[in-house]
Amino acid sequence: LDPEEFRRQGHMIIDFLADYYLNIEKYPVLSQVEPGYLRKRLPESTPYNPESIETILQDVQDHILPGVTHWQSPSYFAYFPSSGSIAGFLGEMLSTGFNVVGFNWISSPAATELESIVMDWLGEMLQLPKSFLFSGNGGGVLQGTTCEAILCTLVAARDQMLRRIGSQNMGKLVVYGSDQTHCSLQKAARIAGINPSNFRAIKTTKSTTFSLSPDSLRSAICKDIDAGLIPLFLCATVGTTSTTAIDPLRSLCDVAKDYGLWVHVDAAYAGSVCICPEFRHVIDGVEGANSFSLNAHKWFLTTLDCCCLWVKDPSALVKSLSTNPEYLRNKATDSRQVVDYKDWQLTLSRRFRSLKLWFVLRSYGVAKLRDFLRSHVNMAKLFEGFVTSDKRFEIVVPRSFAVVCFRVLSPRMDNGVAYAKRTTNGHTNGHLNGHTNGHSNGHLNGHTNGHLNGHTNGKGDDHDHDDHNYMKEESTNELNRKLLESINKAGRVFMTHSMVGGVFVIRFAVGATLVEEKHVITAWKVVQEHANAILSENY
Ligand code: PLP
Repeated sequence: LDPEEFRRQGHMIIDFLADYYLNIEKYPVLSQVEPGYLRKRLPESTPYNPESIETILQDVQDHILPGVTHWQSPSYFAYFPSSGSIAGFLGEMLSTGFNVVGFNWISSPAATELESIVMDWLGEMLQLPKSFLFSGNGGGVLQGTTCEAILCTLVAARDQMLRRIGSQNMGKLVVYGSDQTHCSLQKAARIAGINPSNFRAIKTTKSTTFSLSPDSLRSAICKDIDAGLIPLFLCATVGTTSTTAIDPLRSLCDVAKDYGLWVHVDAAYAGSVCICPEFRHVIDGVEGANSFSLNAHKWFLTTLDCCCLWVKDPSALVKSLSTNPEYLRNKATDSRQVVDYKDWQLTLSRRFRSLKLWFVLRSYGVAKLRDFLRSHVNMAKLFEGFVTSDKRFEIVVPRSFAVVCFRVLSPRMDNGVAYAKRTTNGHTNGHLNGHTNGHSNGHLNGHTNGHLNGHTNGKGDDHDHDDHNYMKEESTNELNRKLLESINKAGRVFMTHSMVGGVFVIRFAVGATLVEEKHVITAWKVVQEHANAILSENY
């Protein structure tokens, strides 16, 4: 590794990336290539002789960029964001440049100590209870993803329970989440050896905005206990993936405490915004949980990957995940004065992730981080206002953070009655209205809510009515599927979807670092243009 050559090539890469960011709006946000496109373009095997960085970079430009979906584009509104920043990128670069493998303290003391410090800093910014911080005998660790964090906590909970009840009872352990919990819980349960029939995805409904009801949790637990099973683990979510629903932590933790469950709080997306005092209440009750995680790589300006996991009892993780081979023995470990993070996670080798998070925390400070998050929430409110002011559309579930879940209504939803006439519908829906910036839209919301209830709750008195509603929902779903496909194919913006309560929703997730109001305004125009075209083609 020649330092001068490293400098020359490094500058080229920075220039390449700076130009990429300058021109990012010229690329279609969603890559438009067909499957298998790259194999057709690249040589069949590794070059025998070295190639220059110039040649390689030209191929990046010509062949790799067309197959990149531009998550950093200001017109990216899909999934959840992956917000980057100069601080995050440069911290990452430094970490890669040092390329240390900080599995235990001695392998790179700064990597371990900085990680513990930033986890306490961030924990304090979130006002996590002291029991989650090193200063309160808990502690935090940076893992790659939430999937890993959930698996590690589940394994810790499992082993803690089995030490008490004996491993012969493994097949009786039950894991709980809701039907909105991220699929990583199910994956973790499978890997952790939980009997697949003991995985509970408790049903949520639109009436509780798809959050997990403590009563439903208690009933499920009691039913399992009656059946001779042993409740083990609850994953509660703050900011679910489909609609950013918020599970009520305090009451869920109260129920879990009654039956001795480990509670993990998955705040992968919404955890970041809890550094703003006006949002902190969404994690009220977290003091009753055993572990809490958020992804700084989602909405906190830190590059992938950076999942922040706090636990109240690090020794539970260590008991499950530690290995101490002779070749890793050292005085610091033997002194028990240090953290060896290899024992808090799945892998042995680990990256110096704390550098990038430290860069972000210092470069922005609490004030600018809050401004950043709030600006996205405000832009989501703006988009929500556009949706509610166009009577052809509706907000499907109330907005909690910076994701707007909406859909276009089918003109045929009301037996062919045109949109304008539906304003006479007298139903109101205070719940939805209460969350849509006070726009008075009762006729529309009341109308569609009726449909949803009819379908999801199966309240219809006669089967014909149910079937009719179902057909109408299906046709509206199809309309929205077409709309989203048409929007994304054009490449100007990128949004994704989910299904909740049988309803296809388009998710508009504000969170790209470069997004400004003008991009949100354009995105709404794009939605309207495509809706105009599809509605005039189909109706
Ligand atoms: N939990 C929630 C609520 C999520 O939204 C996601 C991803 O979007 C995950 C977990 C999975 O995160 P990761 O990809 O870091 O495992």
